[in-house]
Amino acid sequence: MKYDVDERGYYGKFGGAYIPEMLYPNVEELRSRYLEIIGKEDFKEEFHDLLKNYVGRPTPLYLAKRLSERYGATIYLKREDLCHTGAHKVNNTIGQILLAKRLGKQKIIAETGAGQHGVATATVCALMGMECIVYMGKVDMERQRPNVERMRILGTKVVPALSGSMTLKDATNEAMRHWINNPTDTHYIIGSVVGPHPYPDMVARFQSVISEEIRKQLQDEIGNPYPDYVFACVGGGSNAAGAFYHFLNEEHVNLVAVEAAGKGVDSGESAATTALGKPGVLHGSKTLLMQTTDGQVIEPYSISAGLDYPGIGPMHAHLFDVGRVQFVSATDDEAMNAGVELSRLEGIIPAIESAHAIAALSQYQFEKDDVVVINLSGRGDKDLETYIRWGKY
Ligand SMILES: *Cc1c(COP(=O)(O)O)cnc(C)c1O
Repeated sequence: MKYDVDERGYYGKFGGAYIPEMLYPNVEELRSRYLEIIGKEDFKEEFHDLLKNYVGRPTPLYLAKRLSERYGATIYLKREDLCHTGAHKVNNTIGQILLAKRLGKQKIIAETGAGQHGVATATVCALMGMECIVYMGKVDMERQRPNVERMRILGTKVVPALSGSMTLKDATNEAMRHWINNPTDTHYIIGSVVGPHPYPDMVARFQSVISEEIRKQLQDEIGNPYPDYVFACVGGGSNAAGAFYHFLNEEHVNLVAVEAAGKGVDSGESAATTALGKPGVLHGSKTLLMQTTDGQVIEPYSISAGLDYPGIGPMHAHLFDVGRVQFVSATDDEAMNAGVELSRLEGIIPAIESAHAIAALSQYQFEKDDVVVINLSGRGDKDLETYIRWGKY
């Protein structure tokens, strides 16, 4: 496959595994075994059984008639918002916990920012009866109280990260430290297509069920597996990677990644990585990230917690670099308006992350019979407070 990762973990000039020496054995164990394990029949069977009976897959591909009319195209919504726990993240955590079991691990650790990946990890740990620790910045724990309590109800121990700005990057450091000290019995579940090789490729493969289903569903629905466009929002890039995966080599399918522009790309409060980022190393891989001229990571900003990340996964950095994926952005206001618009037109309140993908529709001129698929990555229940604070509905 033309856009696939190479043997050394690179997508073009991006990727690799930039890790401290102490972490090498853990990452190497994973690298040397993941393809063999996830390729086995018994793995695939258990994975697909859980996706079907626990997550509720396949998620519908819904023809959004009123939205289609509004934008003058044939628009389908891929309903990842209907997954158990309310978003696509669980596809990946199920895949990784099954892998961890086959590696003989008994414990799971994860880091979380807004808490969505923490909840998806806590969920599968409860399901599998595995001990789980989630590291979370102390500041984030205060901001995201409901998700902290969800994790606790599910039996997970939430440990506050007390260093630095007490947010996501500090939680990541704590999780890394824990993994270095507990290499034999613990697996570290990363929540997006980020981190050292093989994480980006592994997570993309688990999420690729999204585009696998889209192809089948379009074939059944319109007699052709290929849409003209696929839109997805990008934080680290896992729902976009999943929605694009089986279309990457079909160059006639336009792939559109929507970043969070926050208060505006040039406002100083943004998370539009491809517009503002430069190559550098973040969380173990070489990628595009927002940084100062001397390489300090710039704090990102978006109204949506899931898109509030200073980089993108190396696969996306490459797809941007070679021009295979168009990167656009939507501001806080544009996304919030699109969220309310979708609610009014289709009776679906989207996650604010997903609303960014809807907001990008107005930047395109479609033909009436263009088939457009929007990956609706999550539902808006978790964002009610943000909708209320924004208030314009
Ligand atoms: C976490 C999250 C995202 C962003 O993460 P990606 O890895 O870029 O997909 C997007 N949408 C929802 C609903 C999320 O929870």
